[in-house]
Amino acid sequence: MSPSPKKTKLVTVDKNTRILVAGAGGFIGGSLCRYFKNKGFTNIRGVDKKPLAEWYQRIPGVECLCLDLSREGNCRRAVEGMDEVYQLAADMGGMGFIERFRIECLRSVLINTHMIEAAYRAGVDRYFYSSSACVYNTELQKNPKITALKESDAYPAMAERGYGWEKLISEMFCQEYWAERGFKTFIARFHNVYGPWGTWDGGREKAPAALCRKVIQAIDDGTREIKIWGDGTRTRSYQYIDDCVKGIDMITHCDELIATPINLGTSELVSVNELVSIIEKIAGVKVKRTYDLTAPQGVGGRNSDNTFIKKVLGWEPNTPLRVGLGKTYPWIKEQYKRKKAGLRTVD
Ligand code: NAD
Repeated sequence: MSPSPKKTKLVTVDKNTRILVAGAGGFIGGSLCRYFKNKGFTNIRGVDKKPLAEWYQRIPGVECLCLDLSREGNCRRAVEGMDEVYQLAADMGGMGFIERFRIECLRSVLINTHMIEAAYRAGVDRYFYSSSACVYNTELQKNPKITALKESDAYPAMAERGYGWEKLISEMFCQEYWAERGFKTFIARFHNVYGPWGTWDGGREKAPAALCRKVIQAIDDGTREIKIWGDGTRTRSYQYIDDCVKGIDMITHCDELIATPINLGTSELVSVNELVSIIEKIAGVKVKRTYDLTAPQGVGGRNSDNTFIKKVLGWEPNTPLRVGLGKTYPWIKEQYKRKKAGLRTVD
């Protein structure tokens, strides 16, 4: 008989806790603001460098500041009076972006170094950092039939060039602020996140959104044909946004996880071809697939080993891909229609 799941001990948080979400104009940051607002939190501040008109979501009652957090003074302004900081601001995107713009990805280290110092000096109680599965050693991810990655697989380090190395060094900052200064930091390594309000067009989108859009377009223009990056055999796991924001909350309020990187992703491994088949079922079509072998593809396979998160939190992200995509596809279809009609969209 398998052991019964451990009862998780999470600290209780007062609804007046002052929360800062950095990167609130983006996908996960915006969804996190909505999540805390829906939970009844009354003091939420969102910060992003984008002008307000370009924020993906504007949550009524959330204070919004437009600041470039790669500048030290702006970080000090952002964290003023805050109890908890959720650091999700980064220059990032899907494989097409992070393989092409490594310098931009590396420069996010400015945001992370200034934010953590400002938060520490301001007497913030808890600091969450959004790391990535791109920190894992690429040598372990060559085969699509990969063994799922456990937290210790980041070292010896050979992270994804640019983006992955930046995440790894920023994780180390979090760990050292705890070791040397007793600052409570929390680190989640996100595996691919998807869902409504995510980037779906424009070059920064990830595979689930890009493939939904391509299928929608193939139906709309009547070609019923899509171009897939790579040969369709590479594998990944994809996590639905609702699981991601719930996981961020649980991780940040679990003292067992201070300064301890933890996977936040599903362990439902699928190939790109399988992902397309799920989307076809949702859309009710069959499309002709052509393969672009010159396009960016990333590592051969990547999956999340969830042994640790299940042990510590008694929970893991568990929305099945077909369920999450079933909610994401109609949202992207709506965005597609709006864009065609010349209306404002998220992208
Ligand atoms: P996103 O691009 O939608 O949001 C990031 C936001 O940060 C953007 O709105 C951007 O304008 C803002 N930003 C960038 N530079 C800034 C600066 N100098 N000052 C202030 N704001 C700035 O990305 P996301 O998908 O919401 O990702 C959030 C975090 O999660 C990032 O740190 C990302 O690296 C990490 N992550 C995401 C995924 C995923 O699948 N989406 C996977 C792994 C890790």
